[in-house]
Amino acid sequence: MNRKITILGAGLVGSLLAVVLRKRGYAVTVYERRPDMRAQNISAGRSINMAMSVRGWAALDLAGLRKDIEDLAISMPGRYLHQADGSTVFQPYGSNGEAIYSISRGELNKRLMTLAEAEGAQIHFNKRSVKVDVHTNTLFFEGGETQTADLLLGADGAFSALRTAYTHLDRVNASQMYIEQGYKELLIPPAEDGGFRMQPTEALHIWPRRQFMMIALPNPDGSFTCTMFMPFEGPESFAALQTPAEVEAFFRKHFPDALPLMPTLTEDFFANPTSSLITTRIDPWYFEDKSALIGDAAHAIVPFYGQGMNAGFEDVRILSELLDAHGDDWATVLPEYSRRRKPNGDAVGSLALQNFVEMRDKVADADFLNRKKREKELTLTYPGRFKSVYEMVSFSHTPYDTALKCTEAQDRLWESIRHTAPEDPQLETHLATYDEAVKDLDFGL
Ligand SMILES: Cc1cc2nc3c(=O)[nH]c(=O)nc-3n(C[C@H](O)[C@H](O)[C@H](O)COP(=O)(O)OP(=O)(O)OC[C@H]3O[C@@H](n4cnc5c(N)ncnc54)[C@H](O)[C@@H]3O)c2cc1C
Repeated sequence: MNRKITILGAGLVGSLLAVVLRKRGYAVTVYERRPDMRAQNISAGRSINMAMSVRGWAALDLAGLRKDIEDLAISMPGRYLHQADGSTVFQPYGSNGEAIYSISRGELNKRLMTLAEAEGAQIHFNKRSVKVDVHTNTLFFEGGETQTADLLLGADGAFSALRTAYTHLDRVNASQMYIEQGYKELLIPPAEDGGFRMQPTEALHIWPRRQFMMIALPNPDGSFTCTMFMPFEGPESFAALQTPAEVEAFFRKHFPDALPLMPTLTEDFFANPTSSLITTRIDPWYFEDKSALIGDAAHAIVPFYGQGMNAGFEDVRILSELLDAHGDDWATVLPEYSRRRKPNGDAVGSLALQNFVEMRDKVADADFLNRKKREKELTLTYPGRFKSVYEMVSFSHTPYDTALKCTEAQDRLWESIRHTAPEDPQLETHLATYDEAVKDLDFGL
């Protein structure tokens, strides 16, 4: 354990990474741009709720933290659709009752910071790195201070200072892409008696409206955190909603069942920021044996698969596995980490972009519902042979890259079976074609 580790960013991934590396015996120092969020509320209007799935839980298990986090999480075994015609329907996510878990980003982050400190990590707040010299591993902070790191791990999010520094290196490929939609947090507060105003409480609520959508995730205090996703500009857009009356009319037209549950709608709408959504890619994710990127710093993705944090936590788990395999040999660990994780970071970014169309648009279609039903039947009838891409991503450790590669094969399978009955004798032939298409893929554990 002769390397001293510096982590940039005490977000979700940086804090979890600090716990894991401390448990492995490393000295860990963390520099965080923001003030300590446990001492002051810095998340007004950005109280994002996230869905945690098995990949996230597996990393918490690795760190021995499941029990410390469980009370923050509410199980969501399915999505509850609020259709434009006023009807509602519950769609289970898994074939066997599997769930994803609603958890507040802020509360989880605070808890992880406390756990990191309890393990002996030093977190320094109000330390914004404005520049990194990758060759000397020097961090330049706002205000003029500098620190030289022995081994630097950049967990500093989508606009990572370390990532920016990598983009200036020779033969580094990097890209970023904003989508035309933004998001805004809104709130369904608890009822006066402290209970929930909306049922079911154990579900991810979606109001899919094609060009835009709203989702709501439950919180332990009886509230739901809502997120509106909508284009920045255009006839139905954030730009088109300029007055409280326009907002109220829009909600009365498109979300009439939610409107009475949102007493602070217009205040929240104008007080809370409209934030943008970005996908980033970079190659490679490391520099020599000196530094590497992890979490959103390596792969910022749009939130429509609920996988950004899960993917970042999986990075931490895989890094830890590589340390099991190679010990303190970071000159081997860092390139191997980048080689294994980079295709998966890119793949989950693509899956997330694809899932936006599914969430806002297709979930309301009869064909989509039929496909989900048939996929569940196939999963139950042919365990080990068929699993839908959604279930691979959300309920397994199959590499994201494999899940993405299965998308096309599953689209083709659906094309060949969509007009057939489940007991159609041709099914076996179609499944054999599917088997052939995916036979060389790595499905992991
Ligand atoms: C609307 C929305 C919904 C989402 N829903 C889900 C979901 O359902 N499931 C899911 O898994 N993921 C979800 N995500 C994604 C998830 O929030 C991110 O993937 C996750 O927060 C990434 O963690 P991170 O630690 O890598 O980055 P961050 O959480 O961004 O943390 C980075 C940290 O670094 C600090 N920092 C930044 N720059 C510097 C600097 N220059 N110097 C020092 N410190 C710095 C920041 O202050 C921050 O504390 C969602 C995201 C959004 C926007």
